[in-house]
Amino acid sequence: MIDRSRVSTLDDFDPEEPYLVFRGTISNMHTVASGRSQRLEAEFCDGTGTVLLVWFQGIRWIKESLRPGVVYLVMGKPQLFGSTYQIAHPEIEPASQDSDQQNHPFLPVYHTSEKAKQRGLGTKAIARLTDTLVRLLPPVMEETLPRPVTTKYSLMARAEALRRIHYPDTLEQWQQAVGREKFEELFYHQLDYQFSRSTRRSHSVGRVFGVVGEQFNDFYSHRLPFPLTGAQKRVVREIRDDMRTGRQMNRLLQGDVGSGKTLVALLTMLIAIDNGCQACLMAPTEILAQQHLAGFRRLLEGQPVTVELLAGSLKASQKRQIKQHAAEGEIDILVGTHALIEDDVKFCRLGYVVIDEQHRFGVQQRAKLWAKSTIPPHILVMTATPIPRTLAMTLYADLDCSVIDELPPGRQPVRTSHGTDSHRALLFAFMRRQIAAGRQVYVVYPLIKESENLDLKDLMDGYDSITRSFPLPQYQISIVHGQMAPEAKAYEMDRFKRGETHIMVSTTVIEVGVDVPNATVMVIENAERFGLSQLHQLRGRVGRGGGSSYCILMTKDDLSATARKRIETMCATTDGFAIAEADLRLRGPGDLQGLQQSGLPDFKLADIVDDEPLVCATRDEVRMLLDSDPDLRLPEHAMLRRHIAQKQNLPQWEQIS
Ligand code: ADP
Ligand code: MG
Repeated sequence: MIDRSRVSTLDDFDPEEPYLVFRGTISNMHTVASGRSQRLEAEFCDGTGTVLLVWFQGIRWIKESLRPGVVYLVMGKPQLFGSTYQIAHPEIEPASQDSDQQNHPFLPVYHTSEKAKQRGLGTKAIARLTDTLVRLLPPVMEETLPRPVTTKYSLMARAEALRRIHYPDTLEQWQQAVGREKFEELFYHQLDYQFSRSTRRSHSVGRVFGVVGEQFNDFYSHRLPFPLTGAQKRVVREIRDDMRTGRQMNRLLQGDVGSGKTLVALLTMLIAIDNGCQACLMAPTEILAQQHLAGFRRLLEGQPVTVELLAGSLKASQKRQIKQHAAEGEIDILVGTHALIEDDVKFCRLGYVVIDEQHRFGVQQRAKLWAKSTIPPHILVMTATPIPRTLAMTLYADLDCSVIDELPPGRQPVRTSHGTDSHRALLFAFMRRQIAAGRQVYVVYPLIKESENLDLKDLMDGYDSITRSFPLPQYQISIVHGQMAPEAKAYEMDRFKRGETHIMVSTTVIEVGVDVPNATVMVIENAERFGLSQLHQLRGRVGRGGGSSYCILMTKDDLSATARKRIETMCATTDGFAIAEADLRLRGPGDLQGLQQSGLPDFKLADIVDDEPLVCATRDEVRMLLDSDPDLRLPEHAMLRRHIAQKQNLPQWEQIS
């Protein structure tokens, strides 16, 4: 929307504004032939400067309708061509005729395209249409929001808002209209999500894990490698309570990197086993699945719990055997990668599914796991990429949430610094000192799918330079990248884990979950090419064992503004939630890693970053409303019920009674 009363001058307009209004006269109108086509040009002068108006279409009509000497309002965005400003296909109207201006100083602006404009659907033409439509609106329309809500938040009435969002009298009126429309948009989104959650809760059957038995208790009393943090205890309790209600659990577990989610997963899987069920854990990479397998086996040594791995790299015969054992119920915990969701993987009594590092899995993939049991298994989705609050509220409004907001004791925040090529000698010297002190170092290169070969070359060049600077036999170096065979990768990871190699040069395959407590230095090359959440993940690989840890972000010298901001954010904080918020602000929600496929709603007006208060308010209102009227039977909720019924093909109460 623009304020027509705010006329800009040609000698001093704001080039950042998408749409400007000028007031002046036209002169020197002429057609110019270029090739087979023609264009019409005219000079437009407002006393402070001149701009060239250009038309490629409708030339004859424009020539006839515009008069020199008449004062016009010209609207559009001047664009610089060479040394002169031009406006192509400007909106134009006589200024004098504009008695409307007093009544309607604001003029709506609509998104349109060059093509649509050429066909006569410029923003002014759309405005004429909306003007007609708005006039057709009945003065009173049925409300779409419950009365107590509109009263509490002083929301503009619906009919009023629909009119005023196009034709406000004051700026404030327009803001109120937009506010109301945003509220409605968010409110209905929350209603959809929360209603489906609450119906699932009241109607879906889940397995009842009524007891906490021998396996859990044995492990808890005798085998815990360290005392649980308060947050771990609380989350285990939340999950346990959820599992015995008889409803299917759908829970999101957020916890920063290194907060100890794996142990929570294991403890709660033991509850499933105590109740006669099988559990499975799905990890995003084979390295991580291997690591979980080894970790679980170590922790469970001597306990009668069978843990197996199903992953792409197994021989066909091994896979067949594992699948058979899973189907026969001989495996208690099956760890795996995507291989777990293949159709021929069957369980005898799958009761619990844990999904590690959720942001790598799409909604449909998760749904396939759901379907592996007649009674749907309980689901725990774990993520270390903290999800900004508003995003969690919108995206996961249908999941319950647990948060581990405490790191195990003794962790020191990783010290992060920024370097460029000129610091490389210093960096290598620092790495040598750390290695001399018995520590290990990661050096990570980005790998971006489109240019895999180029990236691999970066990695290999880096590896060469490191082998030259860290010669054998004093220094042992591992290398891991995506094009190596899984066994070779696992072998190199193992050597590094056992401390046999000092430096691990790799692509981001080690990004997620890899746990080598003795590694204290993380060097990230070409750090400007990583997103914030990835940098945070990578940094989370160090600082796990106590002792000081370091993250060095190496970049080229000249950085784009956002890249610089990302690096600065990383150097300034280690708080995953702060980083997630910064990421959301820098990139916008549509662009967050892995979120595209996760079904982020496409709001027309609401913006989950800027409208956080509205997101919170609508969530709370819908929650209270569903608490008091879970089936939306109250007459004042009839319109909400109708909306849900339409969406979900539910019976409408009106029809039943
Ligand atoms: P993440 O939440 O990132 O998956 P992990 O589960 O891999 O974290 O745990 C990170 C490290 O912290 C592991 O080495 C793990 O053994 C250790 N750890 C987990 N819980 C505790 C605890 N309560 N006290 C001390 N160390 C812990
Ligand atoms: Mg983990």
